[in-house]
Amino acid sequence: MRVKIAIDGPAGAGKSTIARLLAKRLGLRYLDTGAMYRALTLAALQRGVPCSDEEALLRVATSMDLKIVFEQETKSNLIYLDGEDVTFLIRQPEVNANVSLVSSHKKVRDFIAALQKEIGRQGSIVMDGRDIGTVVMPDANWKIFLQASVGERARRRMREMQRNGHDVDILELEEQIRQRDHLDSTRENSPLRKAEDAIEVDTTHLSIEDVVDKVLAIIRGADRDV
Ligand code: C5P
Repeated sequence: MRVKIAIDGPAGAGKSTIARLLAKRLGLRYLDTGAMYRALTLAALQRGVPCSDEEALLRVATSMDLKIVFEQETKSNLIYLDGEDVTFLIRQPEVNANVSLVSSHKKVRDFIAALQKEIGRQGSIVMDGRDIGTVVMPDANWKIFLQASVGERARRRMREMQRNGHDVDILELEEQIRQRDHLDSTRENSPLRKAEDAIEVDTTHLSIEDVVDKVLAIIRGADRDV
């Protein structure tokens, strides 16, 4: 049987960490769909293309050479853009600041979502993003919507960015997260929203292990009405 698990939620709710660990525990592939929008944003910035120009962004999307390497052991995704490993570069503040605008354009979303659907068709997978349960894999066997308070999400993003060597201000991060939430959930094209059949898990006061256990319990059917 094909297993498809959709993990959606706002920035910093723990999606990629949880999705990767789930993929590990269940022996599935993992796709970080945000990394694809990030790679496109980086390509646009590198080529001097304005992130508000939908047509120009589509040209970047169709001409860039984007490769996602699925690391079997760690389940991480290595991202290559035009032959260069940009796995870390796509996490830089300049990409953070522009990715929501880039991903708000319909033609951009249609193009990237088609790539994601194709990856989904290739077999069992855990995908995380904003529109996985609603658009990319509406037929997923399980749909989980992770939520957490803005303060907690900013603290998590700060720790992640510090680990990657970036110096960040927590208040600035909170503001960026609020803006990203606003843009992602009010945009016209496939906005961030919980699918009707998704199960919401609030991770604010839970450890990573607790969330993984909780989601595994949902998947195994022991906790359907969380
Ligand atoms: O998940 P991550 O924070 O890396 O995603 C970066 C941005 O990409 C999000 O803020 C959102 O604007 C966009 N995104 C999206 N749809 C997805 C995944 C990410 O619009 N499925």
